[in-house]
Amino acid sequence: MGFDRLTGQDLIKSRLKEITANAAATSLLYTGPEGIGKHLFAKETAKAILCMDKKADGACDKCASCKYIEAGTHPDLIEVEPTEGRKNIRIADLRDIIRDAEVKPQLSSRKVLIINADKASSECQNLMLKSLEEPSEHLIYILLCSDTSRLLQTILSRVTEMPFHEYTDEQMKTILRANSDETLSDEKLEFLSSFSSSIPGKALSLMNDADFMEERDHIFELIMNMPRLKYTDILYDEFQYFDKNRDKMDELLLLMIWTLGDVASAIAVPDPSGIKNSDKRREILDFVSRNSAVTLINVSEAQRAVTDFIDASRVNVSFEVNCCNMLIRIHKELHYEKNR
Ligand SMILES: [Zn+2]
Repeated sequence: MGFDRLTGQDLIKSRLKEITANAAATSLLYTGPEGIGKHLFAKETAKAILCMDKKADGACDKCASCKYIEAGTHPDLIEVEPTEGRKNIRIADLRDIIRDAEVKPQLSSRKVLIINADKASSECQNLMLKSLEEPSEHLIYILLCSDTSRLLQTILSRVTEMPFHEYTDEQMKTILRANSDETLSDEKLEFLSSFSSSIPGKALSLMNDADFMEERDHIFELIMNMPRLKYTDILYDEFQYFDKNRDKMDELLLLMIWTLGDVASAIAVPDPSGIKNSDKRREILDFVSRNSAVTLINVSEAQRAVTDFIDASRVNVSFEVNCCNMLIRIHKELHYEKNR
């Protein structure tokens, strides 16, 4: 157990095992995109630091300290996020938290402060800096940050940075499987992993989002059926679908670009391994053999219709005009009669 319960980030795990086994306090900075696992690792690190019966690979998972951390009630672990309704951490709140944290620990020999540094203004950072420059013997900071260019140089020089790396496909599958109630096919897991750029937090939220899975199927079917659709289907039903889901437009457009990209790969190579909708490979290959008149140029023009939609939505073009125009252009490129 301990750090080995966590999947991936082997380099970070081995460094953390050394650091947490060491008696000296080191403040840490976990960096990487949102959803990569910084918080999960920070919690496991705090557990190992505060554990009363530390093992070679981290926390024992049995002592009172470990139990309190699991329950979220450890008095010596403080997590700092903006209070509800606020974008950033309030400086007055942080001042109180740091003052309390400097008082000696109640249960363990140390205290750990996990701070979402993405939400720390430069005033908050200056406050942290004062505390980092003259650290209380027992206090350890773990800062979580997705953009280190926002952090004061002086903070960076006071902490040990742990940069998080990308997960392999196998690690992504392990993480997704461990968090899913149903058995998902390898291909579906591969799709989720690549659609989320191998960021576990993102892949997990997509996996558990029934709406996303529906949207994905809808867009996929839309492209697959495009050659058979009539103008009225597009201008009425399909426009309505997009209109209803305006708040998810970014996701829908990305799904369209992906599906069109898969069609292009299937035209270019007879049996491509690069198809990103890996669970729908058969359907894409069927589409290409059924619509042999559709060329790579048609598909790239269809993709251009999507990127033109994005450009036009930045200027003042009505959503309806822009969206219908995009759909008609894609239809024109994929419509078999036109290409025959
Ligand atoms: Zn323990």
